[in-house]
Amino acid sequence: MTKVGILGGGQLGRMLLECAGQFPVETYVLENDENCPAHNLCHHFFKGDIRDFETVYSFGKKLDCITIEIEQVNVEALEKLEAEGIRVIPKPSVLKIIRNKIAQKQFYKDHDIPSPDFIITQSRAALKEHINFLPAVHKIGIGGYDGKGVQLLKSQEDITLGFDAPSVLEKMADIDKEIAIMVAVNDNGDTAIFPPVEMIFDPALNLLDYQICPATIASSVIEKATAITKRLVKKFSSPGVFAVELFVDKSGEVLVNETAPRVHNSGHHSIEAISTSQFQMVWQVLLNLPLGSTQLIQPSLMVNIVGAEGHSGPVYYRGLEKLSENPTVFVHLYGKALTKPGRKMGHVTALLNDMTNCTTTAHWIKSTLRAETNPKEK
Ligand code: ADP
Repeated sequence: MTKVGILGGGQLGRMLLECAGQFPVETYVLENDENCPAHNLCHHFFKGDIRDFETVYSFGKKLDCITIEIEQVNVEALEKLEAEGIRVIPKPSVLKIIRNKIAQKQFYKDHDIPSPDFIITQSRAALKEHINFLPAVHKIGIGGYDGKGVQLLKSQEDITLGFDAPSVLEKMADIDKEIAIMVAVNDNGDTAIFPPVEMIFDPALNLLDYQICPATIASSVIEKATAITKRLVKKFSSPGVFAVELFVDKSGEVLVNETAPRVHNSGHHSIEAISTSQFQMVWQVLLNLPLGSTQLIQPSLMVNIVGAEGHSGPVYYRGLEKLSENPTVFVHLYGKALTKPGRKMGHVTALLNDMTNCTTTAHWIKSTLRAETNPKEK
């Protein structure tokens, strides 16, 4: 059995472990929180800080292979493990680039990967010198996630909203569609590209509403986006599973927004809708097995189930029974004991015959299945 460790024990780790049983692996998880989603699904759980050098190094030392489910880990420890012959995927050199938005943007620029123009700012005060660059999006270098660490600066008055830390100030793109492409890369540099996923935003709330696959974009744009994605992951020179988020602008140009060097929210539908899921793909890459097919089995939509507004405490999933009657709807609950507004508690994938009623179906799922607190415990 190959001993494989995962840094981080959130829902991505949990879903990796769900399909680990298909592979000859003994699994290890390092995570600070014993009540994390991955705890009960791994063979060996270690409580500890994934950002601490000694903790990550001593965890990794006994393994054959180590991977991540979150970028904010101790890369120096991974570099040492790699130097000592442990298989580290993705490579620490890629993690170093990707975990800092400044380095990531600079990498795109250096390698001619199309991405919105940007300026590096070291402090909030420095924004005053770049009024002419607005409207722009200010993105904190390290530590942002799920839109936290991203601030739209429309005009001079918004400068006080900017980050007082090293950040990138990125030209506002004239976005038509936001898409994401998952891609698996093996040791030989062969790639398996997943069909693009399209993010659908709620126009009133300006928040991600749901995701669909396939994306409803012209085949010429798909080709362009796929070619950019392939070129980008080749430049990373690392095996792994990557999620490349892209903007298609109103003139049909494709720009890379950002990359995650791991499984990703935009690949969840792959469990039911694609021949090989993003999670299976990770094990296949780690074990150097054939990558397998990324063919779309059936069109799908995916919604995140997030904690309902006004509910904080032990979670109660209202409406589960209504969804479970539907044979093409698949519910995934992440095993988080406590809910709070906006916390990702699970997701639902619906397989579709066509893309005509996506919004209605997505809204039906969201209004039916709600992560609330248990009425009996109130
Ligand atoms: P996060 O990693 O926190 O999700 P992103 O960099 O993906 O942050 O940005 C979040 C959202 O902000 C994007 O999905 C997009 O809607 C918007 N956004 C980010 N960068 C730009 C840009 N340059 N132009 C226009 N909108 C942007």
